[in-house]
Amino acid sequence: MRNELVRRLILLCAAVLLAATFVAHVDSAEPKKLVVYAPNTTYSVDVIDRKGTEYVGLVELLEPLGRVEAKLDGKTWALDFASGSRTSHGRFRDGKKDAELPSGKLNLRSNFFTQDSHGYVPLDNLQEVVAQIAGIQTQLHAPTRHLYLGGVGIHYSAEIRKNRLVLSFTSPVAPAISSEGDVLRLTFTRDPLLSSGNDAQDFKDAAIQSTSFAETNSGAELIVRGNTPLVANSSDGGRTLTISPPAAVQTSTPSQPAQSVATPQVQTPPPKPETPLPPPSVLAPAAKPAFLVVIDAAHGGEDTGATLAPKVFEKDVTLSLSRRIAHELQNRGIQVTQLRNSDVAISPDQRAVSTNTSHAAIYVSVHASTIGHGARIFTSLIPPTTVAAGRTFIPWDAAQSQYLDRSSAVSGSIAFECNRKQLAVKALQGSVSPLNNIATAAVALEVAPLDSSVESLSSADYQQNLAVAVANGIAAIRATAGEKKP
Ligand SMILES: [Zn+2]
Repeated sequence: MRNELVRRLILLCAAVLLAATFVAHVDSAEPKKLVVYAPNTTYSVDVIDRKGTEYVGLVELLEPLGRVEAKLDGKTWALDFASGSRTSHGRFRDGKKDAELPSGKLNLRSNFFTQDSHGYVPLDNLQEVVAQIAGIQTQLHAPTRHLYLGGVGIHYSAEIRKNRLVLSFTSPVAPAISSEGDVLRLTFTRDPLLSSGNDAQDFKDAAIQSTSFAETNSGAELIVRGNTPLVANSSDGGRTLTISPPAAVQTSTPSQPAQSVATPQVQTPPPKPETPLPPPSVLAPAAKPAFLVVIDAAHGGEDTGATLAPKVFEKDVTLSLSRRIAHELQNRGIQVTQLRNSDVAISPDQRAVSTNTSHAAIYVSVHASTIGHGARIFTSLIPPTTVAAGRTFIPWDAAQSQYLDRSSAVSGSIAFECNRKQLAVKALQGSVSPLNNIATAAVALEVAPLDSSVESLSSADYQQNLAVAVANGIAAIRATAGEKKP
């Protein structure tokens, strides 16, 4: 059968190319990636080296942007793309340079090729190919392999105000922050941060020496050199980062310093669901605790979460790590509620309702994953809103929007403590349920293995180190917020 022959041929090609990819991966320690910044998301796709030319798979690249269908018919690879009401088509030929795009013919700089029915175009041609097929503004920064779609890009400015460096961004940012001596390194992996046009700035300030900006293969990096150790503080919903010596932090934090993290706003009742959801059961508890932290071990019961290793489920790792965090917080005199302290199933809505009615100051959801290394701290992706004073109703799905400043302060503080313990950490924004429904400072901690062994997730040492860093981060925030100890 002819079909059978074609199938075998495809399988053979796939096997050969798979082997080739494997060899390429062994050659270079880290596989090359193209970082794609799109209006609603940031993602990366593999870059494949073939005969000295870098290629990217079109299906992988376009999939997050719309519906993609690709078909290999003989030597012709046809691609259909649809996004909203717009559809477009492209036609490429395996082993050839000529391509047909919506606006006409294009000669690629190197031969197009297919592998496993996926089609690969040279990196050098991506800008024009993606712009035409996806119909959006496209800009490629080839040296760092960044692709900016739909005109995304965050600009920043740096200004010195009395021993403080104030970095203002045109959109909220969530960099990973690490410090080494007097140098503070801000690493942006999700935010499309662009050069300000003045990549190296020197300051004549007692505390701050200079800043330098660079695009890197995984994002962008802003390095701040001080004359003394520095810490960063996020405010204005992540649009402002204030960098200063630690002593100055006490007075420099967010918009509402008096009632920053410690006091949940009394005028905001538990959010009401707009769609059928379990209604908040209790309104206001009689006595409100001074500073309560809710630790929420994600998953449980039939919901095992991710299978991290044979017979190692996420729900068990999150529970044991949550217990350690709770214990460390109690050691620091902080009142803690564990939402889940056994193997039971709790819905995200139940978790949010329990947290909101408890008038907690901080909510921490705990997850585990085998992807990447170290800790990732997520804050909600929801846009910030300022609700007029005296307004008593906030929509269930937007409960978090008023607390983003506080949430990113908590995230920053935990990240800072992880860095101090030399635990790899990234502060990110993401849609992790039920963060959007939490009416107080809320973060989700996702732990990944320490090194290449998944077993490290269950290691008592590693969990303990993380628990101490989280507890220290929360204790530092309580101090900053000027909480009166009972
Ligand atoms: Zn999870």
